[in-house]
Amino acid sequence: MSAHTELVSRLRAAWLSGKTRPMEYRVAQLEALGRFLDEKKQDILDATALDMGKPPFEVELSEISICRSELNHTLNNLGTWMKDKHVEKNWATQLDSAFIHKDPYGVVLIIGPWNYPINLLLVPLIGAIAAGNCVVMKPSEISRNVERLVAETLPRYLDKDCFAVVTAGTEETTRLLENKFDYIFFTGSPSVGRIVMTAAAKHLTPVTLELGGKNPCYVSDTCNVQNVARRVAWGRFFNAGQTCVAPDYVLCSLEMQEKLLVALREAITEFYGPNPQESPDFARIVGDKHFQRVQALLRSGRVAIGGQTDAQTHYIAPTVLVDVQQDDPVMQEEIFGPILPILTVTSLDDAIAFINARERPLAIYVFSSCKKVVNQVLEKTSSGGFCANDTIMHMTLTSLPFGGIGQSGLGHYHGHYSFDTFSHPRAALLRGAGREALNTPRYPPYAPRRLPLLRATTETKRRAACTLL
Ligand code: NAD
Repeated sequence: MSAHTELVSRLRAAWLSGKTRPMEYRVAQLEALGRFLDEKKQDILDATALDMGKPPFEVELSEISICRSELNHTLNNLGTWMKDKHVEKNWATQLDSAFIHKDPYGVVLIIGPWNYPINLLLVPLIGAIAAGNCVVMKPSEISRNVERLVAETLPRYLDKDCFAVVTAGTEETTRLLENKFDYIFFTGSPSVGRIVMTAAAKHLTPVTLELGGKNPCYVSDTCNVQNVARRVAWGRFFNAGQTCVAPDYVLCSLEMQEKLLVALREAITEFYGPNPQESPDFARIVGDKHFQRVQALLRSGRVAIGGQTDAQTHYIAPTVLVDVQQDDPVMQEEIFGPILPILTVTSLDDAIAFINARERPLAIYVFSSCKKVVNQVLEKTSSGGFCANDTIMHMTLTSLPFGGIGQSGLGHYHGHYSFDTFSHPRAALLRGAGREALNTPRYPPYAPRRLPLLRATTETKRRAACTLL
């Protein structure tokens, strides 16, 4: 038996023992996770700085505060979420109890990416613990300092019978995926998402796939250009552009492009100073391979702002590209770096057609002071999430589901949606053991004269049609 198989068996035995079911147990593990965040905060700041020069301010916001918020929201609501949900009954079951019981799946595998290595491992973990599962976590090997920190210290806070961290590169993750899990939650690229889903299909294991893609950002002619530039630049250059919900490219008119370029130049200087390489508030690309890939994208179109690079420190300046063509390399893949191409469109319809001709993105952004424009983009396009007059902010709400559609993912989480993702909604009907006479009409030998009575007690009737008039 391989070490992974042994681990999964051990966790499944712990899950079957019922240990993770009581609310007190779940609360204790979640509180312990909170202590990890408090006590290891400096280590998290150090590890993320080593991995990709993440500014501490960005780590506080996007890694620690988001986890803390998710944790608090879950602890505040867990009692309510765990309650059985009683449902409507038909006449035949009026004397019985019918409800949805939120059952944990069992042993869950969470695979994380490197770009927000704490957030994207712990936020799903919070949901999985809250729902009463045992969990194997597989952090990304690319953000190796965070991987080491998580592997060495997180298990000290959690119950080792039920929670484990596995460190693995591609080959070992492939072997890990050969095991039967009861749920797999994957965050990463669409190509690896396909591999994970194929492995899950062998065991008919359900999956959530949180993937990436190119998020369009439409800027209409009616907007406050300075505000737009600041909000787009913040969303694009946060974490040096290595954000799954970052605006990937801008669509706007030629006139707007000219105004936007001036405002973006101002915003970039205001945020990062005259030389962003010296700014403590601008991150670096995670490694050599990723640096080479992003640097190559600078050859698309013409550099209007930025464009400087330094291979040794994996620095790529906040960059804006213009004269970009649809078939340029920068438009063929998710950029995942500090590069913002601007493409010109002739109208709102043109922008909508451009968006709809491509894979469905994780997020669509629209900037306009005209509500009609915002609503048109909302109504005529499809994406995982949507945010008007800002970028990224929709995902800070624990009350909104977060996830993709089509190429950008499958399923969703955050807050209550995480709890539901990691719970099986078990249909439960508790009937009385007596009153057998009431059941007689349904038994053979069938008597057609009893059919109307059976139908009347079990069939759902259409409400009066006049409500539609
Ligand atoms: P990735 O797909 O390369 O890796 C993600 C995880 O899968 C890592 O833990 C890695 O070790 C593992 N992995 C890699 N190859 C594997 C294989 N062949 N078999 C099994 N496991 C394998 O993604 P990444 O580079 O870490 O992250 C960047 C991608 O993730 C981008 O596409 C980005 O948009 C996406 N992403 C999505 C979200 C979201 O919430 N939707 C969030 C962050 C990142």
